[in-house]
Amino acid sequence: MNRIASVLLPMPLPEAFDYAEPEGMNLQLGDQVAAPLGPRLVRGVVVGLREAAGGNRPLKPLEAILDEPRLPPGTLEFVQWAARYSVDWPGQPLAIALRGARAPKPKPTRIVEATGVAPGRMTPARTKVLQAAAGQGFGPPDLARAAGVGAGVVKALIDEGVLAIRLVEAIATYESPDPARPGSQLNPSQEAAAEALKAMLAEGGFNVALLDGVTGSGKTEVYLEAAAAALAADPTAQVLILLPEIALTQAVIARVTERFGAEPGEWHSDVTPPARRRVWEGVANNRCRIVVGARSALFLPFPNLALIVVDEEHDASFKQEEGFIYHARDLAVARGKIEGAAVLLASATPSLESLRNAEQGRYRWLSLSARHGQARLPDIALIDLRQSPPDHGRWLSPQLVKAMGETFARGEQTLLFLNRRGYAPLVLCKACGERMTAPDTDSWLVEHRYTGRLVCHLTGFSMPKPKACPHCGAHDSLVSIGPGVERVEEEAKTLFPQARVAVFSSDTVFDAREARRLIEAMADGHIDILVATQAAAKGHNFPGLTLVGVVDADLGLRGGDLRAAERTYQLLAQATGRAGRKDRPGQALLQTWAPEHPVMQALAAQDRDAFVAAEMAERELAGLPPFGRLAAVIVSAIDPAQLESFVQIMAQAAPNSAGVEVYGPADAPLGLIRGRRRKRFLVRADRMVDLSAYMATWRARVKPPGAIRVAIDIDPYSFL
Ligand code: ADP
Repeated sequence: MNRIASVLLPMPLPEAFDYAEPEGMNLQLGDQVAAPLGPRLVRGVVVGLREAAGGNRPLKPLEAILDEPRLPPGTLEFVQWAARYSVDWPGQPLAIALRGARAPKPKPTRIVEATGVAPGRMTPARTKVLQAAAGQGFGPPDLARAAGVGAGVVKALIDEGVLAIRLVEAIATYESPDPARPGSQLNPSQEAAAEALKAMLAEGGFNVALLDGVTGSGKTEVYLEAAAAALAADPTAQVLILLPEIALTQAVIARVTERFGAEPGEWHSDVTPPARRRVWEGVANNRCRIVVGARSALFLPFPNLALIVVDEEHDASFKQEEGFIYHARDLAVARGKIEGAAVLLASATPSLESLRNAEQGRYRWLSLSARHGQARLPDIALIDLRQSPPDHGRWLSPQLVKAMGETFARGEQTLLFLNRRGYAPLVLCKACGERMTAPDTDSWLVEHRYTGRLVCHLTGFSMPKPKACPHCGAHDSLVSIGPGVERVEEEAKTLFPQARVAVFSSDTVFDAREARRLIEAMADGHIDILVATQAAAKGHNFPGLTLVGVVDADLGLRGGDLRAAERTYQLLAQATGRAGRKDRPGQALLQTWAPEHPVMQALAAQDRDAFVAAEMAERELAGLPPFGRLAAVIVSAIDPAQLESFVQIMAQAAPNSAGVEVYGPADAPLGLIRGRRRKRFLVRADRMVDLSAYMATWRARVKPPGAIRVAIDIDPYSFL
């Protein structure tokens, strides 16, 4: 009897489709197949196989099994689990999992081989060619070169049938990492953490540990030890290291390469399609045993994943907000469970979610409380901007400028941290008061001086800065309000004309190579003052950096979302943690208008525990994460009336369920993006509620018209 194959297609479809398995095809789960869809053939993956019960209407047969690696069972299960958790179509995470498979395969190479046919006549040149052809596989020109003869000799032997050309598929190969290479000599507390991790790995199976260590304590050294143990225990074991920023992947790739004598696979949005293909295939065929990557590396087809490291686990960049919405830290734990792998979350400022899990004993809690070696944590002081304001039109207070001058005079480096790209966050007409906004989006246009353009950071819309106010027509009336990194760079250059000043933000550093170059220039002391957004403010080691100035410490507190205080604390603790990494002591100065704010007080006192305890108490009282669960629904449409009537229907359809509260619909703070009006619901649930199931039930009860989009965000990080 024939079988029915359930095939998942990497597109936004509600479920897998059934196809007939043609005679003799012999499908297996995870096979990539060519499936007919309407008039087209599309790539799909077999996720189910069952015997056909007679009498059903005939199904379309599958066209072929693709000559591609099979997706391992764990990957299939993970993709489907992720879709269920995120309340999205399973084709969405599958599309991420197949991203590398869909990049073009490298072209097969041509090699020349002896066929066994004896040549009609022998000459010394022919003998040389036949000898060379017996060795490694050369292409025709290389063979002639290796034999030291003209191309005609090789061609004649091919024409005679003595030699033949064979096409050889290019196979992604990787040098094997050597876990036996010596790592750093660990200090006693690193040693204790590494031993605990090794014991956890030796136990085998799924376990999660939180490696909680102050900045510069050597967390990377410790997790590389754990990786070495995993690789040594099983010659086919694979290790995944996830990082929140491309700039950080570069630094960790260098350290992994040095530690194991082999380059890991590199995976992030800036990797070219052929390189992506190579990593994907290398992972699937188990030749690539270590991957260092950004969040989507979690969807690679590992057949034998033993350890997942999520470095800087608190970082909000692990949350993917567009398309398939997911949090890579949470999904890493889920994937670890499915694969029976160990998961290691590392941070100097762990998320409240992970701290809570550690406190409750669900995660093992390993701490490194001091910096390695001579290095001490920096002194942190607050600059009260009410008492010591910058000069008019300036952003750096006299106190900070003085410290920068002293640092520069000692030949040491300064990092000025400001989490705002561009030159100025707002352009205003001083004649009529008009604020420049994007035409189809509710957000201010940010001025960029390098390009002379006004840019919408949300949608990418940009336009040249106009000469006259588009509203009232006044000339030379547009003024730039507030600072971005470019403006602070301008000020630093004016104040210290001899200093080498550079900017690090996603506008000035477009790709991984440029990021690496700038990080190395800073680490090697070729930059005196680095003005940076968060892209450069986390994770890195800059030995000559002794002063960190935070230009606007209050910036992140203004958003007022649930995690504003936590996020500000984490970001500033990370940024200030760049100072004083080696033997020279460091200091950090935070410019603030609200020095009495609990976040500023905790930073100055370096009292993380007190801050965490206060924050936990507030969340517990309100039943917010990690004590409760949240989900958001964002509904958008072009027509406001249609949007309004649909959100009312949706509100009516919300299931009644114990322990679940639905708030909204409310206008989203960003009410208009790309011409679409937006409304939001917020759902709060008790911890024990299966919120994904609740949201799926709700969604199934409504049928949005085609012009309406409904996005569900489980555990939202953005409330805009
Ligand atoms: P973290 O990840 O906790 O910020 P790193 O692992 O990056 O810390 O270590 C900070 C710096 O200290 C790095 O330059 C690292 O090479 C160095 N370091 C840490 N531990 C050791 C060790 N045991 N031996 C030598 N150098 C170390």
